[in-house]
Amino acid sequence: MQVCPDVHLVDGVSCNVYIITEPDGLTIVDAGLPGAQKRILAAVGALGRSPRDVRRILLTHQHVDHIGALAALAAETGAETWASAGDTPAIEGRARREAPHGLLGPIFRLAFFTRLAPATIAHIVYEGDSLPVFGSEGGLRVIETPGHTAGHICFYLPARKLLFAGDAVRASNGGLALSPHMLNLDTAQALQSVRKLAAMDIAACLPGHGAPVTTGAQALLAATANQPALSRV
Ligand SMILES: [Zn+2]
Repeated sequence: MQVCPDVHLVDGVSCNVYIITEPDGLTIVDAGLPGAQKRILAAVGALGRSPRDVRRILLTHQHVDHIGALAALAAETGAETWASAGDTPAIEGRARREAPHGLLGPIFRLAFFTRLAPATIAHIVYEGDSLPVFGSEGGLRVIETPGHTAGHICFYLPARKLLFAGDAVRASNGGLALSPHMLNLDTAQALQSVRKLAAMDIAACLPGHGAPVTTGAQALLAATANQPALSRV
């Protein structure tokens, strides 16, 4: 499904996976749960492109519903991979992976982490880095937004006021909300990151969960940033 020009949402994957189409190739943002590569590559095919046209895979963060198919996708496409310094050790399986607080944590570790194939990150990125995506429009920028995970990042295209938000916010009930406390490493820090986003010029917000917001995201981010107290549910 096309979300906005050159950006497509893959249906039926555990998190929102976006495909960016450019003349020189495709970029995939986030990679779904283990096994999601079939649907993602089917979506690539539906765009009239082949797996070898996928040149880059960008990861917003280390959670298993965003990196599960990374190793398989990288192997099938030959794409280069991009992630933050904070989350790369966990993505590569060299550090303990972050899991939900409470009872869900052990369940996640058993159900999903055991199915994660080792993946390699070719490019570690930092705040303000410009990526070779949408290069003709000034390039996609890295915005560090820690809290949901230690190394959570968003990708921002100033020329279009377009944000790939990952799980910095999720779309819910017509608005944008923080992820539930149990899914965040540090919810207070996650709120600070939303305040950082709310101070930017963002019109379209494409989150990792929930329906993409293609206009008017600024006001929704401001409303989330200005919430008086943190919910711990
Ligand atoms: Zn997440």
